Amino acid sequence: MASDVLNSLLREYEQKRLNAEQDLERRKQKIYNLFPRLLEIDNELNSLGIKATKSILFNPSLREEYINNLNDKIDKLKLEKRNILISNNYSENFFKPNYSCKLCNDTGYILDENFRTIMCSCLKQKIFNISFNKSNMYNLEKENFEKFNEFIFSDEVDLSKYKFNISPRKNILNIKNKCIEFVNNFDNPNYKNLLFTGETGLR
Ligand SMILES: [Zn+2]
Repeated sequence: MASDVLNSLLREYEQKRLNAEQDLERRKQKIYNLFPRLLEIDNELNSLGIKATKSILFNPSLREEYINNLNDKIDKLKLEKRNILISNNYSENFFKPNYSCKLCNDTGYILDENFRTIMCSCLKQKIFNISFNKSNMYNLEKENFEKFNEFIFSDEVDLSKYKFNISPRKNILNIKNKCIEFVNNFDNPNYKNLLFTGETGLR
């Protein structure tokens, strides 16, 4: 069940990434039409690496010079690109996909300080929201201790009828107090969990 939730969320993330990349393609085409120099710069940037690799293969002794020269050209072209964008009131990040999570770029995973892959907070939050809704805890406005009404429970003591030597009201108040105690000790690892059992329909 949990892995079903994760799989469907990851499919959703994949779709989001795809949408962001398609959106970038559309934006690129528009801006290339408006400023053809940007297309020239991008084409030049794409071909520079190949040109440099060829040159190095033919003249290995000039490798360092070619690499410095290449970096120089790349920096100049990137600067020109940035200037075109900024002077026309576009963001300098225009050529980056608009991912909804800037931490994981909508992959759902990030690297921690030890370069281990961990789940991004956005994905954790989504899993939490789904579990939260499934647990029927979303209705806290109406269903909470303050709205608790012990008067719907009888104060009659009848061992044969209720299987307790205290009234159902006294019993439910004991349970309520146990629950409050549990909530107050929720972050205490030594405090025992609560288990509710009963027939179908138990609330
Ligand atoms: Zn994220």
